[in-house]
Amino acid sequence: MTHRVFNFNAGPAALPIEVLKQAQAEFLNYQETGMSILETSHRSKAYEAINREAEATLKELLGLGDNYRVLFLQGGASTQFAMIPMNFLPQGRTADYILTGAWSEKALKEAKLFGNTHIAATTGEDNYKRIPKIDEIQLSENPAYVHITSNNTIFGTQWQEFPSFGQVPLIADMSSDILNKPFDAEKFSLIYAGAQKNLGPSGVTVVIARKELLENNPKAIPTMMRYETHAKNDSLYNTPPAFSVYILNLVLQWLKAQGGLAAIEKRNVEKASLIYNTIDQSGGYYRGHAQKDSRSLMNITFRLPSEELEKAFASQAEKAGLIGLKGHRSVGGLRASIYNAMTVEGCRALEQFMLNFQHKNG
Ligand code: PMP
Repeated sequence: MTHRVFNFNAGPAALPIEVLKQAQAEFLNYQETGMSILETSHRSKAYEAINREAEATLKELLGLGDNYRVLFLQGGASTQFAMIPMNFLPQGRTADYILTGAWSEKALKEAKLFGNTHIAATTGEDNYKRIPKIDEIQLSENPAYVHITSNNTIFGTQWQEFPSFGQVPLIADMSSDILNKPFDAEKFSLIYAGAQKNLGPSGVTVVIARKELLENNPKAIPTMMRYETHAKNDSLYNTPPAFSVYILNLVLQWLKAQGGLAAIEKRNVEKASLIYNTIDQSGGYYRGHAQKDSRSLMNITFRLPSEELEKAFASQAEKAGLIGLKGHRSVGGLRASIYNAMTVEGCRALEQFMLNFQHKNG
């Protein structure tokens, strides 16, 4: 392979070329330290500056002030599924979950290990092809918190407008769409995301939370599972995933240089429209899985007239340099993951490939 492919993988996923080049340029000698950042102590001034800048830039991009903190943790979003109820679901209380896909089901499964749960809404009977309407949501009497998944990576659906439940803390798994467009982050008490889709490489999980949630967590849970431990120590209680945080910080600086969330939304809408329009104008040859009012800007799921054609599509696309298009087994078909780092050029290439494929096989 002498050239770079268009990478439509769901995660780990494409990173901005500018970020990869910068990391390459300073790989052997990070900012005149004479060492790679990979070899640098997490207690060094160099790493502390990265850690600080990443937190500040993430808050700046989201328009968050001093009442929020950002933590850089390990264990993936999957560990957050358990840490959230461990820290915020006291005995005798109930946690509410809105189910919009396989990842929300997994989050609920972990919460059940720690306390009472309630399914406030689900679109499971519809094979998760849509996001529930606000009036379908029925909270329990006095929930400790409400948990949602903002974007459903496998099914290709996304909340278009976030709900609010007054004083009840709202918690969101934003692993596959964090920073894809502007939104009111203050609505959320806690947001978490594995970095490997829209933020950087795998190995670091971002937690953005109101400060009061990061204090007085239960004493009876393991030290590493308490948010307070990480907040008090600026995410440096133990050895952090320093290289992942370094790349994440470069991605945040890149996003800022692109013009922040408003600019990236414009580009994401343009990219997604290229593919959705091709689906909608194919006369039923391509069929989107998601209902139109629930379509994701990040993961586009679609089917072809037969499984043979779907297989042929994925393998011919790969030969043409468009990789990672095979859908998740629970939905079948194809999935194009077009996170922030995917270029308009990549989406145009996919659009063209779809048109040609239909022309030849339709
Ligand atoms: N939530 C969502 C929405 C995801 O897409 C994923 C990973 N694909 C996860 C959680 C799990 O993340 P991790 O692998 O970081 O545990």
